[in-house]
Amino acid sequence: MKKVIIIGSGFGGLSLAIRLQARGFQVTLFEKNSRVGGHAYQMQEKGYTFDLGPSLITAPEIIERLFQTAGKKVTDSVELISLDPFYRIYFHDGSYIDYQGNTDEMKRQMGAFNPQDAAQYDRFMLYAKEVYQKVIHEGLGTQPFYWSTLLKFLPAA
Ligand SMILES: Cc1cc2nc3c(=O)[nH]c(=O)nc-3n(C[C@H](O)[C@H](O)[C@H](O)COP(=O)(O)OP(=O)(O)OC[C@H]3O[C@@H](n4cnc5c(N)ncnc54)[C@H](O)[C@@H]3O)c2cc1C
Repeated sequence: MKKVIIIGSGFGGLSLAIRLQARGFQVTLFEKNSRVGGHAYQMQEKGYTFDLGPSLITAPEIIERLFQTAGKKVTDSVELISLDPFYRIYFHDGSYIDYQGNTDEMKRQMGAFNPQDAAQYDRFMLYAKEVYQKVIHEGLGTQPFYWSTLLKFLPAA
């Protein structure tokens, strides 16, 4: 059995460890901190909780695919909860926008700040969908990034 050493147990190191182990490698993971997860952890101080990295999962299918690689289902280990709103963005004056999946509600909130921005929301979402499609579904984000990868992506970009 081939042996592999991975340094760092953030999402990157953990994913790689799972994939290689599923392919039959003997994997050893080194982590300098006392816990695994890298940026994916929380700091608690004076009654407040701070996320030091990913506060929410934006592409759950990546995690699902990873679990499948190891012959498992996400739902057996983790419960992913749909958030509503996804998060709240505050401006200096205390005003805020709740970022959420309901298009009409997003436009209503944005319109209170700037009607022109609200009118562009559909166009922005179409653009974002295309980027998501290219990166997540067509694999741009799942390949090693060589110059050739970049060149192939340029027309889409
Ligand atoms: C403020 C912030 C907010 C973010 N928000 C989101 C979000 O909302 N949604 C989202 O999907 N993503 C978000 N991200 C991105 C996401 O957190 C990162 O993409 C992901 O956690 C990076 O994982 P990683 O494994 O590449 O690196 P890291 O999580 O940094 O892991 C690297 C690990 O390697 C260890 N290490 C380093 N050097 C050594 C060594 N010499 N020996 C042993 N161990 C070592 C470190 O201790 C660490 O545990 C956010 C990031 C930040 C910083």
